[in-house]
Amino acid sequence: MASLAIVNGKVWQRPDSNAVVVDGERITGVGTGRVAADRVVDAGGAWILPAFNDAHVHFLMASRSLSELDLHGVEDQGEIERRIVEYAGEHAGPWVVGRGWFYSAFAGGLPTLELLDRLVPDRPAYIESFDAHTGWANSRALTIAGLTGTGVLKEAALRGVTRHIPRRTFAEDLDAMRSGMRVAASRGIASVQEAGDGQDLLPLWKSLRESGELTLRVRLAFDMTPGMEMRDWERRLDLYEEMRRDQDPWISTGILKAFADGVVESMTAALFEPYVGSDERGSPLWGHDELREAVAMADARGWQVQVHAIGDAAIRQALDAFEGSPPGRRHRVEHIEAPHPSDIARFGRMGVVASMQPQHANPTLTEVWRRHLGPERAARGWPWREIRNSGGRLAFGTDWPVVPLDPFASLALATQQLSLDEAIGAWTSGSAYAEHAETRKGEIRKGMLADIAVVDLEEERVRATIVGGAVVYEE
Ligand SMILES: [Zn+2]
Repeated sequence: MASLAIVNGKVWQRPDSNAVVVDGERITGVGTGRVAADRVVDAGGAWILPAFNDAHVHFLMASRSLSELDLHGVEDQGEIERRIVEYAGEHAGPWVVGRGWFYSAFAGGLPTLELLDRLVPDRPAYIESFDAHTGWANSRALTIAGLTGTGVLKEAALRGVTRHIPRRTFAEDLDAMRSGMRVAASRGIASVQEAGDGQDLLPLWKSLRESGELTLRVRLAFDMTPGMEMRDWERRLDLYEEMRRDQDPWISTGILKAFADGVVESMTAALFEPYVGSDERGSPLWGHDELREAVAMADARGWQVQVHAIGDAAIRQALDAFEGSPPGRRHRVEHIEAPHPSDIARFGRMGVVASMQPQHANPTLTEVWRRHLGPERAARGWPWREIRNSGGRLAFGTDWPVVPLDPFASLALATQQLSLDEAIGAWTSGSAYAEHAETRKGEIRKGMLADIAVVDLEEERVRATIVGGAVVYEE
C-alpha cells in the first residue's frame, strides 16, 4: 500500500489527472480514481503543484529577523519612528537590532544619525534596509565600532558595525531556523537556495538533518570574494571541495556566489551612465579580468557560479565573465534589475540562468529606484518576459528577507508579464533547473521526489505542503 495519496485535486499540467500517489519519498503514480494509502490528503478541488523552490533566499538572516524589529512595508517615517520606540521599550537586550526599512520612507531616500539617536538614546541600535545593502546605526553603535560618520553605511562598510552586535549562539540560530522552516512549509515551499555564506551555514543545516528535523531542502552557495590572489583562491576552493563531499537530497552545494555590484537605491549598482542628478555611476566590485579569471578557475574545477548583478554595467561584466564557460554549466545572474537591451539575448544564447525576484518590481518598493535611474532606464527594468522570449531560462524566488517569503505575491507580479503557467514554471522547474536538480524536482511525475504543494490559486491559500513524502504543513 502507498504511504500517501493526494486525491480530489487538479494535477498541474496533467488535465486528466486528479490524484498523486507517493511511496516513501517519491511519487509513484499520477492518475485518477481511488487509491488505498496509509494517509490520504483531500485536495478539495485545489491544484496539486510541484512544491515551490525559492531560487534565492538568505534563509538564516530571514529566520533570525523573525524575532527582530521588522520595518518591512512601512512607508511612513512617523510609523517607523513609532515602531522603533515601541520595540526598544519592549525589548531589554543590549542592542536594538532590526531590518526592513524602505528608502522611500525618508525624505531624500536615506535616514539620519540624529533621528536614530533620538529614538534610541540609551543603547546601540542598528537597523538594516529591506535589501540588506544599507545599514543605519546610532551614535552608540558607531562608538562601539570605532567609527564616525552619518550613521548610514553602505555595502561592505556595514560589517564595520554588524560584527560588534552580540552573536547568537548555535542553539539560538537552530531555533530561528526551525521558525523559518515553519514559515516556508506554510507557503508551499519545499526547497530554498541560499545565496551566499554557505560555508558558514552548512553546520546548522547538517545539525537539523542529523536530528531529523529538516522539512526543507537547501542548496548552499559558497562565497566567492574579490581581491584575492589566484593562489589563495585555489586554496579556498580546495577547502570548499572538502566540505562539498557530504551531499544528499536535503543539503547540496556546488555553486559559488559573487557580488558584481550593490543596489540602485544607494547608488552602488554599477551603471554605464550616471545616476539621475549625480555624477556617480556606482563601481563594479570586481576588476573585469579578475572576475573572468575567478570564473575560469571555478569552471576548471566544475563549479557553477551565480553573480549578483543589478546595474547594466555589472550585468554585462557578469555575462562577459561567463562567455567562455563550458556549455551546460548553467551559470546564473541574480536580480538583473536594469540590464542594457543589447545584453538580454545573451542569456538564451549563452545558457545563463536569469534568477529574478518579481516582488522586487513591486511599485511600492521602487519609488527611489525609479528616481535614481530616470524614466528611460526604469522602463527597461525587470524584463523577465524579454529574457524568456529570447530563449533565456528563468528561475524565480523572493530574496527573503528582502521581500516576504510569499510565492503568491511573486506570482501576482510575475503574471503582469508572463502567463500563470510560465510564472509557476519559473518557481518550480525553472528553479530546479537552476540548481541542476530538474531530474528530481519541479514536476509532478512518477519517480520525482514527492515535494508537492496543494494550493488554491484563486484564494492564494496553501492547503498542504508535502516534502519528501511527509506532510509538513496542513491548513
Ligand atoms: Zn540576495
